[in-house]
Amino acid sequence: MNLIDDPWIPVCRYDGTQEYIAPWQLTAQHSTNPVVTIHTTRSDFDSALMQFLIGLVQTTSLIEIEEDWDWEYPFFDPPSSEALQTQFAAIAHAFELDGDGPRFMQDFHLPEGETKEIATLLIEAPGDNGLRNNLDHFVKRGQVEGMCLSCTATALFTLQTNAPSGGVGHRTSLRGGGPLTTLVRCDPRGTEDDVGATLWRDVWLNVLDPDRFLHTCGNASKNQPQDIFPWLAPTRTSEKGGRDTTPDDVHPAQMFWAMPRRIRLDFEHVGSGHCDICGLSSDALVTQFVTKNYGVNYVGAWLHPLTPHTFDKQKMPLPRHARPGGLGYRHWLGLVHAERDDTRMPARVVQAYANRQRKAQLRLHAFGYDMDNMKARCWYESHMPLYQLEGDLRREFESTVSTLVNAAETVRVYLVGGIKDAWFGKNDPGRKHDMSFISQAFWQNTEGEFYAALRHYAEALEEGEEGLEASLPVRQQWHETLRRQALALFDQWANSEAIAYENSRRIATAHNQLQKNLYGPKLCKTILDIR
Ligand SMILES: [Zn+2]
Repeated sequence: MNLIDDPWIPVCRYDGTQEYIAPWQLTAQHSTNPVVTIHTTRSDFDSALMQFLIGLVQTTSLIEIEEDWDWEYPFFDPPSSEALQTQFAAIAHAFELDGDGPRFMQDFHLPEGETKEIATLLIEAPGDNGLRNNLDHFVKRGQVEGMCLSCTATALFTLQTNAPSGGVGHRTSLRGGGPLTTLVRCDPRGTEDDVGATLWRDVWLNVLDPDRFLHTCGNASKNQPQDIFPWLAPTRTSEKGGRDTTPDDVHPAQMFWAMPRRIRLDFEHVGSGHCDICGLSSDALVTQFVTKNYGVNYVGAWLHPLTPHTFDKQKMPLPRHARPGGLGYRHWLGLVHAERDDTRMPARVVQAYANRQRKAQLRLHAFGYDMDNMKARCWYESHMPLYQLEGDLRREFESTVSTLVNAAETVRVYLVGGIKDAWFGKNDPGRKHDMSFISQAFWQNTEGEFYAALRHYAEALEEGEEGLEASLPVRQQWHETLRRQALALFDQWANSEAIAYENSRRIATAHNQLQKNLYGPKLCKTILDIR
């Protein structure tokens, strides 16, 4: 199967039709019945295939760079599928999944290695230790025995793109294990024409100006095909005495096609029946692959365009990762706006959106695994709004949003403390219990009102209001929201029947203290940002 020429990407069209398309068919019927979304059976697969398509369009737009490269025109009026077919044809030779020659994202030459069941291609698959220790609760052993070619290709790309550490010498992805990815996407509620949000537009929103892409990270003078697609040549292995791979060693586009794991799919021992991931009937179910450690070891100052970074004291970029507790509005500012002291930078595609057209309403799509070293604990995904403000307005907006989030964090601490006071005595060891479910509920219950507040505030700024005139109503409303939600959650948990019967006086005292905190001067100062 060739991943450029053959239909293998499951998608959904505007009218609900589901089908498999080849990548170049992305824009077919764009003005009548466009492809609107990728539609696999797994969220991590959907997100990986988005990155596959973005990588494909970005990489092929670097082949012939036109001087008058225009971003806006193709957004509204995309290239025809025939034009895309021509554009992608130049690299189709690198996208053979099987066959005797170089294979997509597979080791050029792997004479010997360990044979593994196909299930272990999935990120959440328990490792050997997990199987030995009976920790295979995410994926039960024996549950995934065969995968169709579409799911196999997707699982392979997902693993190479997100690879966690996999034991001695099994390298992590170019962005570390399970990186956080942030994409700019169309908000289904608004574009100026009738076509609305389409998959093409979502892909194109994350393609950078080729010039900008080539000059940020990587070595553009390394422009042989194997500098972009590492599987076209013998692997730069990283055993003792082997080599590391830094941005200086390869072409910038390898960031989309990085291959940290040495893998060779086995197309000789295939099965037939239904794919254990998507249910498709196939007589070529892949059941196993061969792997070996010490593949490409990506080190150094990589700046992947789809990932936000922080910077350490030596100014080295560190890709961000999802953490326990999920992705919520408390992360929003950090994913969208740069920190003024250069310690934090949103993904480059997110930074670029502000300079683009304003005829479409956009949103942020953030996702990633929460990895505990080799183990996938959870998959997180969140859609957040984006506002297109410039210059001083943008700075004013960021400063107020930061205040609102700080105030919410203060209230969260009051709430958790209040519930502990209601439930436990002063020295009760129960106070040390994990109370993260309370924090989770608090963030969730205040999220909708947070974004509503931001929308009103952005509108007020755009209408010409400034300073406290614009932000005071938002701050006051937010204060009211935080108080109301905190007291409601306190009542919900602290007053649960059994506890209330036993400890009514303690609960009343805790309630009074929470009230005092919520109306007290410290929170008022935080909300009004008085220093
Ligand atoms: Zn399948």
